[in-house]
Amino acid sequence: YNIPILIKPHQAVFVNRSVTLENIQCFGFDMDYTMAMYKSPDYESMGFELIRDRMVSVGYPHELLRYTYDPSFPTRGLVIDTKFGNLLKVDSNGNVLVCSHGFHILKGEDVHKYYPNKFIQRDDTDRFYILNTLYNLSETYFYSCLVDFFTRCTRYTNLLKGFQHGDLFMSYRSMFQDARDTVDFIHDSGILKDRTIKNLDRYVIKEPNLPVLLTRIKVVAKVFLATNSDYSYTEAIMKYLLENKSGSPKKPWRSFFDLIVVDTKKPLFFAEGTVLRQVDTNTGKLRIGTYTGDLQHGTVYSGGSSDVICDLLDVRGKNILYVGDHIFGDILKSKKRQGWRTFLVVPELTKELQVWDKKKNLFEELKRLDIFLAELYNSTLSRCFCPRGLLLCVCVCVCVQVLTYRMDMSYGQMGSLLRSGARQTLFASQLMRYADLYSSTCINLLHYPFNYLFMAPPVLVSPPSSPPPTHAYACKRNIQMNL
Ligand SMILES: [Mg+2]
Repeated sequence: YNIPILIKPHQAVFVNRSVTLENIQCFGFDMDYTMAMYKSPDYESMGFELIRDRMVSVGYPHELLRYTYDPSFPTRGLVIDTKFGNLLKVDSNGNVLVCSHGFHILKGEDVHKYYPNKFIQRDDTDRFYILNTLYNLSETYFYSCLVDFFTRCTRYTNLLKGFQHGDLFMSYRSMFQDARDTVDFIHDSGILKDRTIKNLDRYVIKEPNLPVLLTRIKVVAKVFLATNSDYSYTEAIMKYLLENKSGSPKKPWRSFFDLIVVDTKKPLFFAEGTVLRQVDTNTGKLRIGTYTGDLQHGTVYSGGSSDVICDLLDVRGKNILYVGDHIFGDILKSKKRQGWRTFLVVPELTKELQVWDKKKNLFEELKRLDIFLAELYNSTLSRCFCPRGLLLCVCVCVCVQVLTYRMDMSYGQMGSLLRSGARQTLFASQLMRYADLYSSTCINLLHYPFNYLFMAPPVLVSPPSSPPPTHAYACKRNIQMNL
């Protein structure tokens, strides 16, 4: 096992806090966007079209049908300001990094008009809605289409908090609520799931190494599946992912797990949870009453809570490594409420690493300018008023802005998931705080032996500011990247 490991950056598992795999007695997996990776942008496009068509069918203008999904625009982790209809990228303190109105990215002085401090009170969850999950991408884009359409349509008058059309006022807030209700509708009514199941090859990546990973884990630890999806959807997806049509003899998908829980209602699952029931796998229906017996192999459960999982599997929270893609529902809550070890799946990392590798010279330049600016302030401007020094400062600040913009645009129109120029996003800070490990896919665990020690380097309060390794192959016991 203790062989030198050659790992390419996109195959690496990154470390925020040390995890000794040998101590992990139980691996838990979320399903959607964790084990089941959806094909991007086809899946988001389908979600977008379902939202758009439904909104038009309930009375929104037909012109909206002209919009099609553009994957280069939305980034995960953005915040909708339901009061002014803006889409914001913020850091962990609520400072605004990027602000767009429809598809128009606002300049500094325009941002100040909405947010005098370039700051939002993001605890105001009634006003600010965080688009945390990959499911939110289509919704993020649709909301921008709505704002874009009404802003440009001559039938409507633009007001600060919405649009006027005759005696009708449509607020940004009501548009947001309509879009939100529509998203819930396409999820709850099963439309999205039906489309997915009917076109599995089109929307779901059939990862050949997933059965290999689960089989290897099962030799050394227990494995469970905890998904918010219902039984029939879970069965269709997991069958597609784990049961090989041509392979013989066929191993049933349920045999890969010690415990399967559907309808988990995360994040509630990590708190008081819901009633634990058994699922009749022949009919898909739930048995009435709370299940109180021991763990039965091959049985599927519905609801329950993380405490129930620990009881049924006879394992303590700190010996569980939970793998999920939802920074809030999977990772923050399991860590904060239950002390589980956490592994965040961030599919965007593949692109983030590619761009980083190509554009790291821009980032280096940005850091040099920052240092130069600090020296300029401290040496010249602090002692006396110097017009030339001041002019130089302004020039450097403009250069910083241009470089930040160029870096952001390399990722997409709203920039990187993790930063804006040299500043970290809210998503990045939550990732560092709550995910012990993170990687672009859970399959990357296969590149490490199961007695591996993922070691985080010691840091003095703030993380080291060195850029990630520049070589294509990292031949190290541990790779730490400070994206
Ligand atoms: Mg998920």
